[in-house]
Amino acid sequence: MSLPTTLHGLFINGQWSAGPEHLRVINPSTEALLTTVNGGDAGAVDQAVTAATAAFKHWSQTTGAERGAILRKIAAGVQGAREQLMYLQSSNNGKPLFEAAIDVDDVVATFEYYAGLAEGLDAKQDSPVELPTDDFSARLRREPCGVVGLIVPWNFPMVTTAWKLAPALAAGCCVVLKPSEVTPLPELELAAIIARSGLPQGVFNLVCGTGLAVGAPLSADPRIAKISFTGSNAVGVQVMQRAAETVKGVSLELGGKSSLLVLADADLELAVEVACGGGFFNAGQMCSATSRVLVADELADEFLLRLKARAEAIRVADPFEPDVEMGALVNQAQYQRVLGHIDRGLSAGAKLICGGNRPADLPRGYFLQPTIFTDVPQGSALWCEEIFGPVICVRSFASESEAIALANDSQFGLVASVVTRNAEAADRVANALQAGLVWINAPQVIFAQTAWGGYKQSSIGRELGPWGLQAFQEIKHVIRAI
Ligand code: NAD
Repeated sequence: MSLPTTLHGLFINGQWSAGPEHLRVINPSTEALLTTVNGGDAGAVDQAVTAATAAFKHWSQTTGAERGAILRKIAAGVQGAREQLMYLQSSNNGKPLFEAAIDVDDVVATFEYYAGLAEGLDAKQDSPVELPTDDFSARLRREPCGVVGLIVPWNFPMVTTAWKLAPALAAGCCVVLKPSEVTPLPELELAAIIARSGLPQGVFNLVCGTGLAVGAPLSADPRIAKISFTGSNAVGVQVMQRAAETVKGVSLELGGKSSLLVLADADLELAVEVACGGGFFNAGQMCSATSRVLVADELADEFLLRLKARAEAIRVADPFEPDVEMGALVNQAQYQRVLGHIDRGLSAGAKLICGGNRPADLPRGYFLQPTIFTDVPQGSALWCEEIFGPVICVRSFASESEAIALANDSQFGLVASVVTRNAEAADRVANALQAGLVWINAPQVIFAQTAWGGYKQSSIGRELGPWGLQAFQEIKHVIRAI
């Protein structure tokens, strides 16, 4: 599949155009230039917000059923372009094709789910409110909050977009989307699908570009009612500060430093699989990566032996190889950042069990071996900070309470995993963990019905489920004297 040498990076008011900024889009597995996207600047953001503001007058008045029908068309369009979208995800992000397929299926499920919620809105609109008096009546309306700005990262490009875009459209909001400048290709294809879905002009607008050229003016625009942002904490803070100037709502999905707890009675093979999935899926570039693995003393030696053997057997290769298990990191900057974490970990006295280097058979591309450390000092950056690469730190614990304390000892609180044969202990631990989502004896499965988001500095708000829709709605009560 070949790409044009340049692509228009703006979709505003139903029209494609080229912006003034040239974004070089790289294939991280080969380091070759894939294409150049002509992205936008503050002027393009202004046009996109103007178009969205004009479109809001009509779109906010459509019925939920009308919006649901369009969301279903988008879901069908994504399903129909599954192969193309998988190809774009793998070539632009470096993830294996089987992982790209999971992403596309997630996008379809998300649009379908919010289509269903949109269709259910009409019957619930103007629902009566029970009052403690007969002198007044009251009704509840949920209205779209307005024009919203969606800013997303590169690790799950289309998925993070769908988790915002589908509920925003379902609620009746108009949208300006800014994809990551590193991985704009999946969203450009998604925009082309949306353009064919029958959505009225101006309801959905896309402005590719860098954070400073596009993300910053979008966060500051006074006509934007809400910014929904997924990305790093450093940028999330800046977005929130800009949004504060005009008291915009913000939803933030930020970093994580999550733990897997392997209790003393755990099935070791299952624990190893969960550890590898939580640490090495998407080359560890997951906000939900369980980069801390806490193992009961009794199992620690045997678990580490098996984890090391499994990690060393993981096939790191080009994402299009048939038996690939782990692909490349997303770009040079991320590659260097992760190698820097590994170096600092070694300097801090951490013990490297395996990995830490480029695989010998892959001289080009941003490939890294699955990496495991033990003896990681608790105050070190490797233990405390998000690594966002295929790096796991293993530590043993003597008691359940120690494991919970270690897991909760973080500025983040996104997710956690527990592996144990004891259902009671699993629930006790899950209830004690400060995390928005806990998996018990399970891989990191995600459903559109369950919330995504975390405690502490991982998030503000929740995505998915009805909470994801409510994030784009205002609540209005109308009280009438009888
Ligand atoms: P990033 O913060 O560098 O960039 C995210 C987005 O913000 C990009 O589109 C970028 O262009 C834009 N941006 C950059 N500077 C900006 C500015 N000044 N104003 C407005 N927008 C700006 O993050 P990244 O490197 O793309 O992604 C990795 C980070 O995302 C990790 O920290 C990861 O934990 C986080 N993440 C969180 C979740 C979650 O659900 N909690 C999901 C995926 C990724």
